Amino acid sequence: MEKKSPEEKQQILVNYFKTTYDYNFDKISQFMEYAWPIYNMVQSSTQYWNGFNSSSISKFDIEWEKLARSKDFIQSQELVEDFYRELGIDVNFDELMKDGTLDIKFFDKNDPDNNNNYLAGNFQGSIGISNYHPYIEVMDQGFVLDASVYAHEIGHYINENFGRDTFGRELLTESVAHFFELLFADYLCESGYEYDGTISKRLVQYTLYHCSWDALYIFRLFILFLKYNDINEEKYNEDFGGTLFNDVIDRCYEVIIEKHTLRARIKYSIAFSLSIYMYIKYKNDKEFIEAVKELNDKMMKDYTIEELLTIIGITGFDNDNMKKILVSFESFKEMLIGYSKRSI
Ligand SMILES: [Zn+2]
Repeated sequence: MEKKSPEEKQQILVNYFKTTYDYNFDKISQFMEYAWPIYNMVQSSTQYWNGFNSSSISKFDIEWEKLARSKDFIQSQELVEDFYRELGIDVNFDELMKDGTLDIKFFDKNDPDNNNNYLAGNFQGSIGISNYHPYIEVMDQGFVLDASVYAHEIGHYINENFGRDTFGRELLTESVAHFFELLFADYLCESGYEYDGTISKRLVQYTLYHCSWDALYIFRLFILFLKYNDINEEKYNEDFGGTLFNDVIDRCYEVIIEKHTLRARIKYSIAFSLSIYMYIKYKNDKEFIEAVKELNDKMMKDYTIEELLTIIGITGFDNDNMKKILVSFESFKEMLIGYSKRSI
């Protein structure tokens, strides 16, 4: 593929925003209402973690040989089913497999390249609707850690509404799935897999933190486009400064045009703030699980974002509410530092 100049990339992004805006006006205008508040939330979260993330928590200091190998798929299945049962949520893998919802891809356990799959992030599952039927696709790579992906996808499945995606679900389902994934990490620790649970928590935080930076760049360009119907360096520096314009263009070009992950990045950036907030809230008061169940139920119906967030105790996007999120980050950080000290 021919390499594109920064100017070409910039023009392609402007055209991309124009066509998106023309063809999806309803959806985009719904989203626009929240562009600023979400931008502010993501910006505060990302800046709060800055420095801490790069120095102490990295995806690449994982000792792969220390990860527990699973006996078989049944072991992972039971871990996930028992985990959800304890929370009062009924999950039955056999039924999900029988009706064609759940599909598992098996990897050769003895293949050393399997570790590289984890490193490359090629171990995620997916969930969606195909031919009017929901599907969940996950992989068995022979690690106990595989089960955390199953727990995550089930976290989506319990608010799946057979393809009738509301705006509330679109924005919040990742937050719920990551919340359950974090809880499941604790469950792994309690079940004798402390290293794996610890790694799982770090991977969640690592991935979401990096997605948040991408989302921040996307929001900046999108906000510029809405304001000036154009994206250029002068306006960018006036409004945002800080990061080099060409770096932002490069990153957004890759994420939006090459990888087609604009929506995923935005949903993950919201999940970064909210899943950690929800996780700490649950750690402080187990009754909070009832609020999460109510959120699951209501996000499938036509509730507004404000109504949905109120259920979990976020009553707006002002400073007081932002503070609630940042305070929970503080607890989570301390937890991660504690874990990494123990695992050395
Ligand atoms: Zn997800």
